[in-house]
Amino acid sequence: AKAAGRSTFRLYDPAMEAAAAEQRGLELDLRLALQRGEFELHYQPIVTAAERRVVCREALVRWRHPTRGLVPPAAFIPLAEETGLIERLGAWILRRACRDAAAWTDGARVAVNVSAAQVRHGPLIAAVQSALRESGLAAERLELEITESLLIEGEAADLLLALRRLGVRIALDDFGTGYSSLSYLRRFSFDAIKIDRSFIADIADPDTAAIVRAVVGIAAQLGATITAEGIETEDQFAAVRREGCTEVQGYLFGRPVPLEGAPAEEMRIEG
Ligand code: C2E
Ligand code: CA
Ligand code: CA
Ligand code: CA
Repeated sequence: AKAAGRSTFRLYDPAMEAAAAEQRGLELDLRLALQRGEFELHYQPIVTAAERRVVCREALVRWRHPTRGLVPPAAFIPLAEETGLIERLGAWILRRACRDAAAWTDGARVAVNVSAAQVRHGPLIAAVQSALRESGLAAERLELEITESLLIEGEAADLLLALRRLGVRIALDDFGTGYSSLSYLRRFSFDAIKIDRSFIADIADPDTAAIVRAVVGIAAQLGATITAEGIETEDQFAAVRREGCTEVQGYLFGRPVPLEGAPAEEMRIEG
């Protein structure tokens, strides 16, 4: 009875009410944001460990909110996933990223994050196809970053196969943070493996360094590029180079930034 009383009380907790209202407000804003074209892509370079040459840029979405300022993805991607808005947002991100990359003169790839929810709710293949067609970007310059949560899906194998057929590259993001990373390496093939930045943050620890070395060895055997993400210091950079990582990403080489000369007026989402 006491517990019930407490939870009844919680229903009227003004703080919780405010949080719920805030959430509803954000959800409404999110729908409008799609129509108003308030999203923008920032790009973070991925460089070769050997010569620091830019070989790829990862697209990271931000929301230019009229009153809240620049909202990071962690604050709205989960909401977009819950509400199904991720499908349209994801399609826009793909189109925008391919269009941007098609204009790069250095031939660098563009990496786009794909959420697991996007796969459940949306015709991802069609979105990839039309983004490539519209932009004229060569398929091998588009890399889709997926996480283990996507691979749990029953149709994951079919999806990855279909994407492969289109000629795009597939990267396994946040490697090492899931529950069964190794079994996924056995069941699916990847063009790149991105070692999660928690390993890099801890790479001064000899055991962590040994794990990174082993993963580098596995990736080499599988013919996959190995990318170390979240490199912030020269010491971390030296360590991942020592362990054999071929591509690196992190604040040391560049933060996510808008493209220079990006159009002030963002491309809008129809519908
Ligand atoms: P992620 O895919 O693992 O992206 C890397 C995140 O680490 C980015 O945060 C990036 O700004 C940050 N980062 C890069 N280098 C460093 C570093 O040296 N140190 C530290 N501390 N952080 C670094 P961001 O942009 O806030 O994105 C967070 C997450 O939101 C992403 O993690 C990704 O899961 C998701 N996300 C971002 N953009 C998109 C998108 O376009 N679509 C989808 N579905 N998810 C996205
Ligand atoms: Ca990523
Ligand atoms: Ca990552
Ligand atoms: Ca992450």
